[in-house]
This record gives sequence, structure tokens and C-alpha cells, in this order.
Amino acid sequence: MYVFDKNIDICHLLSEAVSEGIIVINKDQLIVSINKKAARLFEFTHYELLGKPLSELIPDKYKNAHKEHVAKYYKDVKKAKMAGGRCVHGQRKSGEEFPVNVRFNPFSIYQNTYVLVLVNDLSERVQIEKNLDIKSEALESTQNGIVISDALKEDRPIIYVNRAFRKLTGYSESEVLNRNCRFLQKDDNDQRGVKIMHNAIKAGKKCQVRVRNYKKDGTLFWNEISINPIRNHEGKVTHFVGIQNDITKRVKAEDEIRHFLKIFDDSLNEIYVFDSETLRFSHVNYGAQKNTGYSLRELKKITIKDLITGITEERLREILDPLNLNNHKKVTFETLFKRKDGTTYPVEVHLQSSSLGDSVLIVVIALDISERKNYTHKLEKTVARRTQELNEALLKEKELNELKTKFLSMVSHEFKTPLSTILTSATLVGKYGNSYQQGIRKKHLKSIASGVHYLTGILNDFLSIERLEKGKEIYRLTDFSLSKVVNQVIYNANMLLKTGQKINYPMNIEDVTIHQDEKIISLVLTNLLHNAIKYSPEKTEIDIQIDIDEDAIRLSVSDRGIGIPKNDQKHIFKRYFRADNVLLTQGTGIGLNIVKSHVENLGGNICFKSEENKGSIFTVTLPINSNAEEY
Ligand code: ADP
Repeated sequence: MYVFDKNIDICHLLSEAVSEGIIVINKDQLIVSINKKAARLFEFTHYELLGKPLSELIPDKYKNAHKEHVAKYYKDVKKAKMAGGRCVHGQRKSGEEFPVNVRFNPFSIYQNTYVLVLVNDLSERVQIEKNLDIKSEALESTQNGIVISDALKEDRPIIYVNRAFRKLTGYSESEVLNRNCRFLQKDDNDQRGVKIMHNAIKAGKKCQVRVRNYKKDGTLFWNEISINPIRNHEGKVTHFVGIQNDITKRVKAEDEIRHFLKIFDDSLNEIYVFDSETLRFSHVNYGAQKNTGYSLRELKKITIKDLITGITEERLREILDPLNLNNHKKVTFETLFKRKDGTTYPVEVHLQSSSLGDSVLIVVIALDISERKNYTHKLEKTVARRTQELNEALLKEKELNELKTKFLSMVSHEFKTPLSTILTSATLVGKYGNSYQQGIRKKHLKSIASGVHYLTGILNDFLSIERLEKGKEIYRLTDFSLSKVVNQVIYNANMLLKTGQKINYPMNIEDVTIHQDEKIISLVLTNLLHNAIKYSPEKTEIDIQIDIDEDAIRLSVSDRGIGIPKNDQKHIFKRYFRADNVLLTQGTGIGLNIVKSHVENLGGNICFKSEENKGSIFTVTLPINSNAEEY
């Protein structure tokens, strides 16, 4: 302490011991004593200030007011004792103003009044307060919701919420202060994030969690909360600061991404992503893994080149070039993919480029076209088969038309001859009226009967065709005497025999009874026998042979006639077909066709052997099962 007035040097020692700035002024407000601290505060040396008016230390603008203010301390020393601390401004030697706290303490020594001025520098405190203001403004204006709760009070009540919190939740300050934060969960407490948060708070640890919270109006929002404990100097947690972040949009976006990833993975189409440079796969979906038989890990070790068979790396890069050069948005081609087990399958490949950071990736969508290929193959086969069927049908149609034409001309011819014979005979019968001409009349009447008989046969054949085609033919199976039928047929055929022709009867059929359709047996035998007569020259023999065993009867008619040309043999049972060597002989080409249909309907068959100019043998086999019912 440096003193200017000896009266107060008693206390100089004491004043140096205190940490505050101390200035003693006399009645004239001249500085009579100043401690080191005070001198340093104002950036003077104490010598510079001793004897100087106190106003030297006060900014000009406050000087007058200050002088008056201090003067009143001298008026009534007792009353003015220990005036309260005031925040005023001091001025340093450099002219810099700074906030100070000043307390005036007047005292008297030896009838002299002095004022002890206690000075404290408030710059630092003001700065701290300013900083605090800035910080609290920062807290208020931050975009994150901030909650501070008191950890020392029961149930950790909220003591502060910032503007962002109020905006985010819709609650006002008064609605949330002194409440525990849990109201933000409403009843939705069974959440993993909530449990983690509780445990962290209990343990006084920090944590970051994602929880479902609800606004005042009930709207759900995803809250990413960071909890930070604040500890006092003893390490005890006094507060928790919760920083809230509304991540609803982010969660939604993540959900969408997850959803798209699921679609990507679940797609049965094969999707591959590979690097355009290294050709290595970076991602492959489930569909692709399933179809190729490779796991994702295995696929990541190979390249697209290993999957595509029969293509060189050079060719593959050529295919990729338009994509890399951005000339094409998409490249499509068909190839074969090789599975892990070595089997291959056809695919339609769609390539598209997509950039990720600096690397260019190629997205492959491969469609397994095995089925399509099979289908096309099948379709082609079906088309070929149908075309063939169509051609065959057309051919048949053509043949049928030709046969019909042939038939019409044949019918007109077949009808003409017997009709003219009948007409001639009828005319002649009329002319031969005398009784002695009875023989001639008989001969002509026989011709008429034979003509009518012949025409009736043709008409019956036509009717038979009609019935057979419509499936209307009804067979009646009965037990009958075989020799009776055979004799009748041969008897009727006798009048057709040419000069010198002879029919040899079958042996061993006397007393034989069979179970069959009598009419059909008669029709078959008649047809075969008439043909044998018709297509054999005069003076030849015709043999009828019949063999019977337990189940079947075999009827054979053989002749030594003109035979059937080899080329025509395969057509012989076709309706209206007639061989080249019989065109001058009467006939319709219907008989054998009808015989074959009947025989087959009755479960039998017909075959023949023939050599041109040597003869033919026709054999019919029919079942004679006595249990057979009507067909
Ligand atoms: P068609 O009325 O012409 O005799 P069929 O259907 O009975 O008709 O016979 C068909 C064709 O089979 C005959 O036109 C003939 O060319 C040939 N044919 C049938 N039987 C004989 C046979 N015994 N000898 C030679 N050719 C025969």
C-alpha cells in the first residue's frame, strides 16, 4: 500500500493483503492510498495515481454524476457507511472502459473523513454472462429439441425445454416443465430403445436411441434421442441433457429403401450388379442365387464372364462398350448361363449401366427363358404336326373328290348297263307273245331279275355305307347252321358263274352251328365269292375253305383270276377304289370296304394275298365267342 496521507498509513498493510482493489480517497476525492491490485486494474503504477482525483479513473461521460454521488458519502458518514455494490464503469490508462463493481465505505480518522473504495473488475463476469446468454440463445435456436432434466430430484423432472422441442412436440413450456419425459411415449413403452434409455439413465451413462414418440396431437414421430449426463465436481450426475432429432422422414426413407431391397432380393428375375471394369459381382439377388445354385459369397468371387458360357471376355467388353460410353441406355441379348453344377439354361439378358461414386456398375436383369424356348419348340412341333395333318386331310379330301367323281361316273355306268338290259329284255318279252316262245320269255325274265338283283345289291351297299358311317349298324348274334348260309350264298352265286367256272364247296361244315351275325357272314361270303367270279376268267375253279376252332371262324375264298396289281394292293379296302386291271368290269369299289368295316366291327379282320394274272385269296377271321352279345 502506497500512502499519500499519513493518516491512513495504518491500514496500508492490511489492504495489500486483500484480493480486491482498494482505493482510499480524501474529502477532495483525491486518491490518498491505492493498493497494488487497484493500480494494476486501471493499468497505472500507484505513483501515477497517488494525489490524483478519483475521476481520473472514470470515463468522461460519468465523471460529473460520479463526483456528486461520492460527495454524499462525506455528508453523513454514519448513514452512508458501507454502501451497496454498484456496477459502474471504470477507465484504464489506455482509455479502455471496463465494468467494475464499486462499494464505498466512508470512515473518519483524526476528524478527517475518507472513503474506502472497494473495486472489483467485472469484465470477466460480464463476459461470462454474455457467453451464457449466447449459449442459452444457441440452445433456444438450435434445430434439435433439447430437454434438461434434474437428476437429483425425484422422477427427474424437466427443468428446461428449448423452442425446437416445443415446436416438435406441440407442447408448451408450462405443459412439460416438472414432468418426467416419458409422456412422449404415451402408452407405447414396450420398445427396445426405451429400455436402453432407461438402463443408461439408471447407470448415469450416455446413450443414443431411436424411439417412437407422440406429439401432443397424437401424431407418431420417430425420435432419435441422445442422452448425456452432466456431473458435478464430485462426479455425481446432476442433470441429463436430452437432444431430440425428428427422424421420421429418415425412417420412412429407410423403410422404403428396405422395401426396395426386399423387392430386389425377392424378385424371381435374376438381378446381378457387377463392376464394369473388373466384371466382379457386387450384389446378386436371391432369384439369381437360387437359379444359379451359387451363394452370394461364391458369386462375389467370380465374374459375369464365368456365368455366361460361350463368350470371350473381349466379346463381353465389346457388348458393354456402348453402355460404358453412354451411347446406349440398355443392351439386350440372349445367351446361356452356366449353373454351379455345370448345367446351362437359356436367358434373355438386359444390361443397364448405373454409376456409384467413381465406379460404373452394370445392372443385369436375366430372364430364364427355358420355358419360353420349350414352348416355342413345342409350338413349332405342333405347327409342323398340324400342317402335316392338314396336308393329309387335304390329300384325303382330294382323293375323296377324285373317288367321288370316279364313283359318279361308275354309278351312271353301273346303272346304265343293267337298266338297258332290263329295258331290252322287257321289250323282247312283249314281242315274244306266242306260247311256243315261252323259253325265250323265261330267259329274258331271268335277265330282268338278275339286273334288278344287281341294282338292289348296289343300293344295299350304299345304304350299308350310310348306316356304317353313322354308327347305326346293329349286329344280331345268333346261333345258326353254317352250311345253310354257305349253301344259300353258293346257290345265289351260281347264276353269275361264267362258262366253265366251278365253285368248290368247303369241307366239314355239315352240322356246324356258330354264334355270329348270320346276315354279315352271308354278306361277307357273297362279296368275296362274287368278286372271285367277276375277276376270274371262264373255266376256272373257285375254292371256299372254312376253318373253325374254339374261338374263331376263318373263311377263305381263292380264285385263279386276274389278281390285283402290286401297286394297287395297299388301296384295295378304300371306298370306291378299283384296281387298274378291272376298269372294263362292272363294279363300284364299295364291297370290300363294307366287308372290312363289318368284320372289324365284329372284332375280326380281313387280309388277302394276290398276284397279277395268277389269282387272289381273301381270308376273313371272325370271333365266334358264344358269350358275345349284340354290338
Ligand atoms: P368292285 O365292285 O369293284 O368289285 P370291291 O370293293 O368288291 O369293288 O373290290 C374292290 C377292288 O378290288 C375291285 O375293283 C378289284 O380291283 C379288286 N378285287 C377285289 N377282289 C378281287 C379278286 N378276287 N381278284 C382281283 N381283283 C379283286
